[in-house]
Amino acid sequence: MLTNSRVPADFSAFLSSGRFSSLPASFFTHVAPTPLPSPYLVGISENALRQFNLNKTIAQSTEFIEGLTGNKILNGSQPLASVYSGHQFGVWAGQLGDGRALLLGDAIDAQRQKQEIQLKGAGLTPYSRMGDGRAVLRSSIREFLCSEAMAALDIPTSRALCVTGSDQYVFREIPETSAVVTRYAPSFIRFGSFEHWYYNNKPEKLKRLADFVLEEYFPEFSGEAKPYSLLLKHIVKRTAELMAQWQAVGFMHGVMNTDNMSILGLTIDYGPFGFMETYDENHICNHSDTHGRYAYKMQPGIGQWNCYALAQAMLPLIGSVEDTQLALAEYETHFQNKWEQLARKKLGLVTPHADDMGLFNHFLQLLQENHADFSLNFRKLSTLQNTPSSIDNLLRDMFIDRPALDNWIQQYRQRLLLENSEEIDRQTSMKATNPKYILRNYLAQIAIEKAQQKDFSEVAKLLSVLEKPFDEQPENNKYAEPAPDWAKNLEVSCSS
Ligand code: AMP
Ligand code: MG
Repeated sequence: MLTNSRVPADFSAFLSSGRFSSLPASFFTHVAPTPLPSPYLVGISENALRQFNLNKTIAQSTEFIEGLTGNKILNGSQPLASVYSGHQFGVWAGQLGDGRALLLGDAIDAQRQKQEIQLKGAGLTPYSRMGDGRAVLRSSIREFLCSEAMAALDIPTSRALCVTGSDQYVFREIPETSAVVTRYAPSFIRFGSFEHWYYNNKPEKLKRLADFVLEEYFPEFSGEAKPYSLLLKHIVKRTAELMAQWQAVGFMHGVMNTDNMSILGLTIDYGPFGFMETYDENHICNHSDTHGRYAYKMQPGIGQWNCYALAQAMLPLIGSVEDTQLALAEYETHFQNKWEQLARKKLGLVTPHADDMGLFNHFLQLLQENHADFSLNFRKLSTLQNTPSSIDNLLRDMFIDRPALDNWIQQYRQRLLLENSEEIDRQTSMKATNPKYILRNYLAQIAIEKAQQKDFSEVAKLLSVLEKPFDEQPENNKYAEPAPDWAKNLEVSCSS
């Protein structure tokens, strides 16, 4: 029963009940959000609002804040929580589901695409298990900022419209205040949504889900002889390419469980994520991941492992082990192609040559050995001139083993001779691929601590910087700096 009162007037045309709710009742449970006392706006993404013809003024209205905290049900919305299962840290975990996310419905964006609008942290659902259905301000600000930062980096991701907060406390390691993130994506269906029906031995539901996904998201496959193996192939490709895109900006998800893997190849469910700062291929961003299953260097392999888990669940649909294997076999090629393409872009190389990856990997090795910053040094590399100059020192100053770096720079310059590019064009294209601004943990932490004191200005400021990660923004240079000493060992755990 949905008892909350409805939001009136202009903001109401935003939503319709949504495609997901056309699935049989066993796929979800209608559940009303649980109101939070006296909600307030913590952050809004004007870029995201614009996608829905909404503006800052509407976003500051009581209707918007109440509606997107879950205190009122928006017209056209029939909130629901979906069921799914998944493998967590490599182990079958059984049923999970939206324990604190509610799908409000669909909204149509500026490209006439339907987007699912979800509230994360809006209260208990039948899938909350031991949880309280809430999200804390800290993790909500992190999800909000990172979704928008990833979009600006041009990496497939769910987006975030806003964060609202309330003074209501919830208990994690310490009491923290609650918040709700309004996020959106064309679909939040996960690998674990397929696994759910496979492991519950419900082949007809599995087929229903696959047909729904094909119809809504891959209509071009209709009428094809093997639509389900095409679907798997496509998910495999998107996942492999997403992993290459993560690696190329040093993004680490932190909890790559199959219930956090999008069937559209989007980055979803931001939790204890991190961006690579001091380069270490073994870096583990999630303090709770004691064995490093989701360490930086593991991500491409885990993406593949997750595709195997999905393929297992889709086998009854595909009906042939051989076709399933064929689809999976493409993962490595898709990953490698994308990774090499991005590696060349990072080095400003246009025409492929045989040992480009050797040159790239050697630079990574130097970063590793010299404990040098990943993003900062690719950015500095983007300013290097074709012939030796004092600008070399910007990079050299960041390395301890300078002879080794000098040797590498010399090889790099030799390699540049094989390109026909102008220095300035190369620099411009490198700067458009090597971000100056990434969401460093300490930057998020400063914004969070201010927000916990009810000063939301830093959330807005940081968002505005991260919305243009490739721009020089000289007035914001300090946001490009590595972590200060106090923040070098900030720990991020699953607690959210
Ligand atoms: P995650 O790996 O953080 O995406 O979450 C794994 C599962 O735990 C999902 O089913 C979530 O909905 C659920 N979950 C996480 N935190 C909570 C919470 N505070 N209350 C209810 N469910 C939660
Ligand atoms: Mg999740």
